[in-house]
Order: sequence, then C-alpha cells, then structure tokens
Amino acid sequence: MKRNKMALEAIVRAANRQNKSIDLTRKGLDQCPSAIGQLTRIEEIKLANNRLTDLPEGLDSLTNIRTLNLNHNRLKCIPAEIGRLKNLESLSVEHNQLEELPFELCYIEQLQKLYLGYNRLVSLPEEFGKLWRLKHLILHKNRLQELPASIIDCTSLTILDVACNELRTFPPEFECLPLQSFHYECNPLLELKPVDSVQEEEVFALKEIVARFIMNEIKNDDPKVWQKIIASPEMRTILNEGSQCALCGGFLLNTWLECVKFVTTQKGFKLSSSSSASTLMPINARLCSYKCFRKKHNFYGIAHSTNPQ
Ligand SMILES: [Zn+2]
Repeated sequence: MKRNKMALEAIVRAANRQNKSIDLTRKGLDQCPSAIGQLTRIEEIKLANNRLTDLPEGLDSLTNIRTLNLNHNRLKCIPAEIGRLKNLESLSVEHNQLEELPFELCYIEQLQKLYLGYNRLVSLPEEFGKLWRLKHLILHKNRLQELPASIIDCTSLTILDVACNELRTFPPEFECLPLQSFHYECNPLLELKPVDSVQEEEVFALKEIVARFIMNEIKNDDPKVWQKIIASPEMRTILNEGSQCALCGGFLLNTWLECVKFVTTQKGFKLSSSSSASTLMPINARLCSYKCFRKKHNFYGIAHSTNPQ
C-alpha cells in the first residue's frame, strides 16, 4: 500500500507539472494506480521492474503516449485496448510472460519499435503486416513456431531478432524484407538434406478444383465469371484464402505441396548471426501440383499438406 501511495504521489506531481514523462521503474508495484489515466499530456511512461500482472486501468485514454516500457513485469497478456494508443511509437514488454498478442496491436499505425524478447509467444497475429512503419522487432527467447505470412508487408523493418525460438522455416518472400540486422540463431531450422521420394499423383477435392478453375478463368479475364464472383461475398471470402504456386503462379486454395527453397545471405541483408548458425535460410513455398514439382527448380518438398474444410 505504501508503495502504491508513493506511485500515486508521483503521478499527482507529474499531473501538476504537466510532465511529458513519468518514471515508475522499480517501485515494487503490484498494480499501477488508475490515476495514471489522468496524465493526458504524458508521452512516455516507464513501468519496468515492477510486479504488474495487468496493465493499469485508464492507460488506454492516454492517446498522446509515444513510449511505453513494461519490461520485467509479470504480464501474461496485453489487453486489446492497447490498440487505442494511436500515437505509440515504441512498446517494450521484454521479460514478461506473454503468451499471445492482441490483433489490435497491429493497428497502431505509428508503431516503429516493438521489443518482446524473453516471453512465451507461440505465434504472432495474422494481421502483423499492418505494422508498415515498424523498424525494429525483437522477439528473441520466445516459443515462436512460425512467423505470419503478412510479415513481408512490414516494409520498413530493418532490425529483426528471432533468435532462440522454434522456427523451422520462414514465410514466402521473406528474403525481400529490407533487413540490415537479422538474428536467427538457435532455431531448429530445416537443413538442406535432400532425400529421394516416390510421389503419387494427387486427387483434389471438388472445392479445390472449382476454386482453381474459377481463379484461372478470372486470370483469363472472363467477365461473366468475374461478375458472378463480385455478386457473392461468400465466394470472395473463400477465394481470398487462396495463394499462388511459387513456380507456375497458378491459384491454389487449400491443397498444395509444402516446399522450401534455401536462400543464402541476400545482398541487402547484413546478417549478424553467430558462426554456428546456418547460412542457408529455408523459405516456405507452395507448389500447386506434382506436375510443377517434377519440373526443374530449386524447391525441396517437405510434406503434402492438405487443409480440409
Ligand atoms: Zn504450379
């Protein structure tokens, strides 16, 4: 209680002086006083090294805040209200117990620096690519099994640290990111060890065949098909889930051959991983059929993935 009283006094002082910044680091707080919501002019809040299990109430009304430091606390989640901090540029939540992120975080347009090392994150929201201003993304020491495909839309990203996670591959076109510093050591990345296998012709589900047919018709600019699709939102939703064959560019819905290509240090990348790390990065790719797989290319098959719906 005494500690909370001291924090409250600091908040009142900051409010009276109309401070732009408040430092509540190492105050032994289990909870942050909700009075912090009254610091409407505040631009920076430091709450590191406390014992917070929840974000302070009223924090989401501080729409001028640019920097928020919550390192070394006990947060298991970040509430969806974080999305209201429209001017947030730097968010640091390292050394907590985060298991997931709210997708609302991906709509903070100004966000440029996101530090999430030393947590328990298994995945990132699919919407992650909306963070087009994001420059620094630190995710070391989590439990990430994959990165969302949309991460390639983070076109400002120059520093990425995904070291010490559980990544086996990287999403398609990952090598196009403008990274200057990239850490990816200590991941169980797929290694280039080709093995022979006997491939059987696949039998597609009807839905897959129809979806491929329609999308190829659209490609051929058949206006009748196009009009029918525009008229059906359901159809649009289904077709939006599809992707393209990495080889022929043909459409595929939810049946494909899961492949990887191995990419060496790209020109733009100034890789700075440890010497023990692989110098070949496995990048995911999908091939539409064995017909494509049998052509000459540099993709290696992983498994035949079907996603029945
Ligand atoms: Zn193909």
